[in-house]
Amino acid sequence: MQVRLISVTAPLIQVENKPLSPEGLMAYCARVSSPHQETPDYGKLLAYCIANKHWSVFEMADMTVEIFTSRAISPQILRHRSFQFQEFSQRYAKAQEIEHYEPRGQDSKNRQNSLDNLEESTKTWFDEAQEEIAALSLERYNTALEKGIAKECARVLLPLGTRTRLYMKGSVRSWIHYLEVRTDKSTQKEHRDIALGIREIFREQFPVTAGALGWQ
Ligand SMILES: Cc1cc2nc3c(=O)[nH]c(=O)nc-3n(C[C@H](O)[C@H](O)[C@H](O)COP(=O)(O)OP(=O)(O)OC[C@H]3O[C@@H](n4cnc5c(N)ncnc54)[C@H](O)[C@@H]3O)c2cc1C
Repeated sequence: MQVRLISVTAPLIQVENKPLSPEGLMAYCARVSSPHQETPDYGKLLAYCIANKHWSVFEMADMTVEIFTSRAISPQILRHRSFQFQEFSQRYAKAQEIEHYEPRGQDSKNRQNSLDNLEESTKTWFDEAQEEIAALSLERYNTALEKGIAKECARVLLPLGTRTRLYMKGSVRSWIHYLEVRTDKSTQKEHRDIALGIREIFREQFPVTAGALGWQ
């Protein structure tokens, strides 16, 4: 499991004696100027807000997810500056694990793309190279710690494949744009897989918004 729902906005107000859903809250706030603020149906309203780029409505609810990935991918995630993050610290805690990735071939026409076109022998070579590097770097890293070298210094011996964990909190607005960009084919597969997992969570938590976005 790479992603897990940690929290979602829990509205305190009730409409028709029922607590509002996070989406209901967004609609309730969007209707701030309307005499019909408590109208329970809000599918058309949220779709209208999306179509007309009325994005602030989607800033009224938040979602936090936990993400397990590598240090190769976490900097890409951290670039999404409208989110708030907590990431596992290699200064305070010991790195435990190195992730293993399936290799793909370089696309010669698009430097930001890779292709599933490698020979089996090349894949095997890369698997073995990853195992070799992981074993060597973890052995030297652990030895460095045993010698009393600080974790913040010893970590330079670790590869980009080193496992990390993040909490990522953002508004529905931020999630909409993050998911649009990071589920696209232009995003590296390992990051795209994370975004696709988060999109499943988003669909469960915000089904009306997801439907209006065409995320069936
Ligand atoms: C394929 C790809 C390649 C990249 N390559 C590089 C690279 O080579 N070098 C590099 O430094 N960086 C690269 N980046 C990172 C990129 O430039 C951004 O820094 C990163 O995607 C974060 O996006 P953001 O700044 O929009 O942050 P976000 O936190 O995602 O968005 C900031 C704010 O803008 C809003 N927003 C975003 N999109 C929209 C929209 N369409 N309409 C309305 N509001 C919107 C969000 O809701 C949020 O409030 C790449 C990104 C991708 C996806």
